Amino acid sequence: MAEPKKESLQRLCDLHRDAAGLINLNPIQRGGILTEAAKKTLLEWGDGYSVCDYCEGCLGDIKKPPIDVFTHEILPEFLEIDAVRVTNGARESKYTVMHALCEKGDTILLDGNRHYSTYVAAERAGLKVEEVPSNGPPDYRIDVEKYAAEIERTKPKLVLLTYPDGSYGNMPDAAGLGKICRDYDVPLMLNCAYSIGRMPVSAKKLGADFLIASGHKSMAASGPVGLLGATEEYAGIVFRKSEKYKKKEVELLGCTARGLPLITLMASFPSVAERVKHWDKEVENARRFVRELEKVEGIKQVGERPRNHDMIPLETEAFHRISEKHKKGRFFLYHELKNRGIVGLKPGITKNFKVSTYNLTDEELEKVINAFTEIAAISL
Ligand SMILES: *Cc1c(COP(=O)(O)O)cnc(C)c1O
Repeated sequence: MAEPKKESLQRLCDLHRDAAGLINLNPIQRGGILTEAAKKTLLEWGDGYSVCDYCEGCLGDIKKPPIDVFTHEILPEFLEIDAVRVTNGARESKYTVMHALCEKGDTILLDGNRHYSTYVAAERAGLKVEEVPSNGPPDYRIDVEKYAAEIERTKPKLVLLTYPDGSYGNMPDAAGLGKICRDYDVPLMLNCAYSIGRMPVSAKKLGADFLIASGHKSMAASGPVGLLGATEEYAGIVFRKSEKYKKKEVELLGCTARGLPLITLMASFPSVAERVKHWDKEVENARRFVRELEKVEGIKQVGERPRNHDMIPLETEAFHRISEKHKKGRFFLYHELKNRGIVGLKPGITKNFKVSTYNLTDEELEKVINAFTEIAAISL
């Protein structure tokens, strides 16, 4: 063994995160902010394998803490799907289904707005990928009616829809695709990394065979942690048990989120179950943000209109114009926002970016709208 370099180790002794008291608009982070209940678990459950004291061989069956109730009662009811497992994240859930259902060389059919991790999961599973393209700028809508012809042409083993996608926050007609997939008798996986935990999602209502969730994206969990829901028809395949180790589920490598990521997910869940009931208000807030910002000449929302999700992709020529004259150049926007207590945009970005208004209080929303409007009014 070689000694790690002293200077390198020193850097690990000095971990700070400059986040307290700031409003973070990064869409990937807003839904993963811990609840007070989850924060209280951090120290007590932070040790490695902390949930394993009373394990009898299967994570989902542990009674103390009540992972069994969470896994086998609360989550299946919440998602209206037969069986649920906690995983290490949305991508792991997707890979699990692809690997369990398909053989190398099989084809799966994705939407053109799919997340990169869906594509990489398919690559790892050795699958061929076909895509139903979006209608392009400025809406980038996925028309699910187009799946029918593509299913006939490509004969996929599995169909996937991103609901909503992580680039535009578009909400495609998942229930419509559910019907199409039923007609063709091909399983449908809905990637709900950006929806489960923010809004009500029901596999039954949407006609999905698989639901994918991300705890750190949308369920107020530290993560990495995710969910995989399956209908009875497929649960036996994706959650099949090892022949040698009778309690271990093979596709989950025997165990998944064994510790704090799962505890924070469980501790936040009562709040999450409550917050999804107020989704209308979140959509209203996003629409209000768009209305107010588009009053500025040179700011335009892209993606479907009106918004049906808290994610807001913007084209912001107005900020780009300022950056050309500002003494901080393209870093001005980051600094101006930070000075007003707002973070979440990458330093140096001015032309286009995404924000999320998820879970902002009315006061915070007001503050954010005013900040962007004031900054856009800077004249040089
Ligand atoms: C964030 C995101 C993911 C990745 O989620 P992980 O839980 O981190 O794997 C997958 N799909 C979409 C659409 C996402 O937005």
